[in-house]
Amino acid sequence: MNSSIELISIGSELLSGRTLNTHAQTLGAALTEIGLTLSRDTTIPDEIDTIQSVVKEAFERTDIVVVSGGLGPTVDDITREALAALFKVSIVTSPSGLAEMTRRFDARGISMTPASARMALILEGAETLLNSVGAASGQRLDLPDLGKTLFIVPGPPKEFAAMLSDHLVPWLRAAFPDAAPLQLRVLTTQGIGESSIVTMLEAAGFQYSEISVGFYPGAGMVEIRLNAPTEKAAALDDAERMLRELLHDYLID
Ligand code: AMP
Ligand code: MG
Repeated sequence: MNSSIELISIGSELLSGRTLNTHAQTLGAALTEIGLTLSRDTTIPDEIDTIQSVVKEAFERTDIVVVSGGLGPTVDDITREALAALFKVSIVTSPSGLAEMTRRFDARGISMTPASARMALILEGAETLLNSVGAASGQRLDLPDLGKTLFIVPGPPKEFAAMLSDHLVPWLRAAFPDAAPLQLRVLTTQGIGESSIVTMLEAAGFQYSEISVGFYPGAGMVEIRLNAPTEKAAALDDAERMLRELLHDYLID
């Protein structure tokens, strides 16, 4: 199974400027921590055709896709319908999802309505992912014939984060037991621009081949992040040493 994971964030408000899409950062950080990769983040409106074509395309590139948003009780929440039609499965009530939501509502003295019960609907054959901080259930649909897995999780950032820590990350750890986080080294310069840094590195013959290097300028500083798998730790040490020597006069960290 390919360890690159794609995220599809669904919500017209994410594209209109109404809401900052925070899911790529949350998922990217969670995957980096366990040594997996968020390879693409696609943000799309609540439109059935678009959801279907984007999910289909994502599965042409990768084996694990996380879809978020559009699982609420309102008319614009059409993610389930779009995906059920795409994978040709029906939509059913999740008994555990409904029981959990009923328990949560009872505890707060809220009565269950047909609209709220919609948040316990899942695709037939999907595993319910109980929501520890909100109403809508998440779900995991394995597509064994294709060797692919689809996670469908609620959009509110707190619920999205809970779905990752309660369900997605444990599942990924089990699916990729050998995954290990990359080694990371961070240097910060002040008083020198990106172009001047690169010119200095080129003049000194600094090689990027065995490690990956990212430059992140902002507020008069440049953060330089060096990454490599554990087996390349020696190359990482060399690269860090060389950069620290070359940029010595500008380093603040
Ligand atoms: P939904 O799951 O589409 O019903 O969204 C519920 C709430 O979560 C709405 O206020 C959305 O704007 C918010 N939300 C959904 N997706 C995201 C996202 N990617 N980033 C930040 N907020 C989101
Ligand atoms: Mg929405």
